[in-house]
Amino acid sequence: MIRLTELRLPLNHPEEALRPAILQRLGIPDRELEEVRVFRRGYDARNPRAIVLVYTLDLAVRGEAALLRRHAGDPRIGRAPDTGYNFVARAPGGATRPVVIGTGPCGLMAALVLAQMGFRPIILERGKLVRERTKDTWALWRRGVLTPESNVQFGEGGAGTFSDGKLYSGIKDPRFYGRKVLVEFVKAGAPEEILTVSKPHIGTFRLVTMVESIREQIEALGGEYRFGSKVVDLVIEPDGEGQRHVRGVVLEGGETLRTDQVVLAIGHSARDTFGMLRDRGVYMEAKPFSIGVRIEHPQSLIDRARFGPNAGNRLLGAADYKLVHHGRNGRSVYSFCMCPGGRVVAATSEPGRVVTNGMSQYSRAEFNANAGIVVGITPGDYPEHVLAGVDFQRRWESLAFEAGGGDYRAPGQLVGDFLQGRASTALGDVEPSYKPGVTPTDLARCLPDYAIDAIREALPAFEAQIPGFARADAVMTGVETRTSSPIRIRRGWDFQSLNTAGLFPAGEGAGYAGGILSAGVDGIRVAEAVALTATGQPVPR
Ligand code: FAD
Repeated sequence: MIRLTELRLPLNHPEEALRPAILQRLGIPDRELEEVRVFRRGYDARNPRAIVLVYTLDLAVRGEAALLRRHAGDPRIGRAPDTGYNFVARAPGGATRPVVIGTGPCGLMAALVLAQMGFRPIILERGKLVRERTKDTWALWRRGVLTPESNVQFGEGGAGTFSDGKLYSGIKDPRFYGRKVLVEFVKAGAPEEILTVSKPHIGTFRLVTMVESIREQIEALGGEYRFGSKVVDLVIEPDGEGQRHVRGVVLEGGETLRTDQVVLAIGHSARDTFGMLRDRGVYMEAKPFSIGVRIEHPQSLIDRARFGPNAGNRLLGAADYKLVHHGRNGRSVYSFCMCPGGRVVAATSEPGRVVTNGMSQYSRAEFNANAGIVVGITPGDYPEHVLAGVDFQRRWESLAFEAGGGDYRAPGQLVGDFLQGRASTALGDVEPSYKPGVTPTDLARCLPDYAIDAIREALPAFEAQIPGFARADAVMTGVETRTSSPIRIRRGWDFQSLNTAGLFPAGEGAGYAGGILSAGVDGIRVAEAVALTATGQPVPR
């Protein structure tokens, strides 16, 4: 197969136009083109009046070697890489069972790949099965009742379950592990198009069934799930050379599970578990993250700004955006986790705190577009100790809870009022989607001054890129604090903790991923490291 990239055709081209365009580009007659597979289809909307589709194609051609020679030097024509997945090991008989903590995308992919290699992992999840968890999550959104162990952050499927299910990432992925994640998701019920469109998304509804299907596969391969099983301690013992080695995990009920390999895929909100790890001396560092607000506009405004007369085109779907502004105070402001046609959700896992995030359904058909507008902060903003970032997040989340009225409503402010520096007393035409509700107030009460200043400066700059972005009745709700982990649980080249052998920090909570796809990819990488270590093979550097 050869791969042809960057083949550009007008947005509304008829399907039959693809083949002649390929033939022309390759300079071959029709009879020599034996098969056409779309590997990826994206679009270029920089000129909204002349949007083009951009194809990456895998092609079977007669006389492949000669064709490649003829086009040598053309960076857009080459041999198609092998994107298939090959297992690195097979579990030996009697191998100890690895433990995977967490069933977010990282833990799920780690457990699935370990199970596929025959390791029969034990999967521990503090929260509930995804269907029960869904009821608890809705209880917060509908009635303001939070279940601290079962919510948007905790429970089967992890943080991404009630999300937009965006499945793209900017990570380097030379071994195509992202493809393996997508292929497994399709097997579990995701739409096949996620394998070809450039910005795939699944929506929250399908994610729930996919998570169940992956569980069934893992169990069928000998894996074992335990829900309501919070890990509260690690058994760490010296090995033959006096080095720290994890030998088991302790569950909240007091039970100890012995194991020599623990995948720690706990996500960015397991603050109590971070504390336990610090107390047990597991090496970790504070790391930068971002805080800010969610902003909502009518989706039609974003569609018009991005797609002009092509707004509403089926192939384009609901438009997204990505915005960045470098503030005069040295802070970067950027849009985060943009959810077209979705809603803002209550995403706290702790009582007495308010946290925002966004989600959508597959159709992305809801009225509003929403995105985090967040400001980068560094450990220099909270230098006290390694977990001071958690204290920092909690402080603003508690202030948001108070400003919202103390019942899980979110504090909100109209952009017009925010720019003028005055509290909102009512909402405008843009109806905020956050449930259980929004209290008009002044968001400056619940974010640091430098963040407020930077966002105030950024909004007019964003207006220049998306007309209407700073319209007076766009709504902002807060606070968006869980953008990524406030710590990194450092690991070495062998994927094990720097000072605790057998402990494999993984995914977003450990600071090695940001988003569903990259967390899944990290899960695969860590599963391979576990398998290689368990079978006495070297982990490639
Ligand atoms: P998590 O998904 O956080 O999973 C960690 C799991 O560990 C949880 O299930 C938790 O219950 C469990 N756990 C924690 N501590 C313990 C313990 N001590 N014992 C046992 N179990 C424990 N990303 C995207 O790419 N696209 C999106 O559209 C998107 N939308 C999002 C929308 C929302 C509302 C949220 C909250 C996040 C969204 N994200 C999105 C981010 C994405 O969900 C995360 O990056 C991803 O889930 C991280 O995966 P993870 O497996 O590392 O951790």
